[in-house]
Amino acid sequence: MLPFFTEQFGNAASLQHPFGWEAQAAVESARQHVAALVGARLRDVIFTSGATEANNLALRGVIDALAAQPGGRPTTAPHVVTVVTEHPAVLDPCAVLEGQGVRVTRVPVQTDGLVDLDVLRRAVTPGTTLVSVMAGNNEIGVLQPLAAIATLAHDAGAWMHTDASQAASLTAIDMTGMGIDLLSYTAHKLYGPKGVGALVVRRASKVALAPLHHGGGHERGLRSGTLNVPGIVGFGEAARLARERRASDGPRLAALRDRLWTRLRDALPDVHLRGAASPRLPHNLNVGFGGLTGRALVLGLTDIAVSPGAACASTSAAPSHVLLALGLDEVEARSSLRFGLLRTTTEPEVEDLADRVIALVSTLRARR
Ligand SMILES: *Cc1c(COP(=O)(O)O)cnc(C)c1O
Repeated sequence: MLPFFTEQFGNAASLQHPFGWEAQAAVESARQHVAALVGARLRDVIFTSGATEANNLALRGVIDALAAQPGGRPTTAPHVVTVVTEHPAVLDPCAVLEGQGVRVTRVPVQTDGLVDLDVLRRAVTPGTTLVSVMAGNNEIGVLQPLAAIATLAHDAGAWMHTDASQAASLTAIDMTGMGIDLLSYTAHKLYGPKGVGALVVRRASKVALAPLHHGGGHERGLRSGTLNVPGIVGFGEAARLARERRASDGPRLAALRDRLWTRLRDALPDVHLRGAASPRLPHNLNVGFGGLTGRALVLGLTDIAVSPGAACASTSAAPSHVLLALGLDEVEARSSLRFGLLRTTTEPEVEDLADRVIALVSTLRARR
């Protein structure tokens, strides 16, 4: 990224001189990698500021495009189907759309965090415009059955969107093979820079999409504004590395994650895995520790970067909406701690972490 902050400072839309050409070539090379990671084509990628913007563009863009179609607004209210355990970057725009007359159905999940396809099928009707279901859950790691969801959306004449922010780095997502029409993801969840992401819209799906804001017509008119060239270059390289390393990083992290879970479960009574053991993101482990709070554990693990829930909700005192959706009560939801493993995480680190969590949980429980 560094040269694009300094020597190669061209604007990717200034095609009158070599500075612009260099920037444009770098952006198009990154676009190729961002598309390839999720089984899409170069021209499908719309760069955004992250997954939040990409989700908003997908949800609002599809609804606004309906209203803009020849013949004007449809006579019945548009309908969006999503799931209760989605990220706020999907749930909040859905709530705003609902306030503006869009019908929104939020399908529940089973106690293992997975959607019941029969329940989802009943929610999706011929009047449904869009079905939005995340790929891998950011709190409990479960992987939803995307291909089956895309099929049932298409059977009803709806498009399928997925927030793949968590899943893109370590699971093989193939938009073309799975029939996914729109997909959001973000660079910083795959070791890239913060503040850059993409909405990938398969051209073959012929999705009608309206932009969120209006201006210079960048990104085929769908996302006006000068491109963040250094950020996009970093995103492209992160996507390239993820694609290269996914097949080896995934199983390695899954084995370390399983080792951590096995050690906690074998050493401590009253510990609970949140979400299905599989299919699950390789780097996610969410554990409930009976009688304790995740917050107390975080305080006791001072030099370990661990969190009771999502970064996006850590300022709120409310228990996680995802854990409540599994049927847990508030006390159980607050007893959970989420572990995230990294590409750089080693086996000795995991053993040390397990030792420390086991010691801390035993000490805190003995004090009660
Ligand atoms: C992190 C995350 C987001 C938000 O991504 P930003 O780049 O911060 O906009 C959205 N959805 C999921 C599932 C995430 O994990």
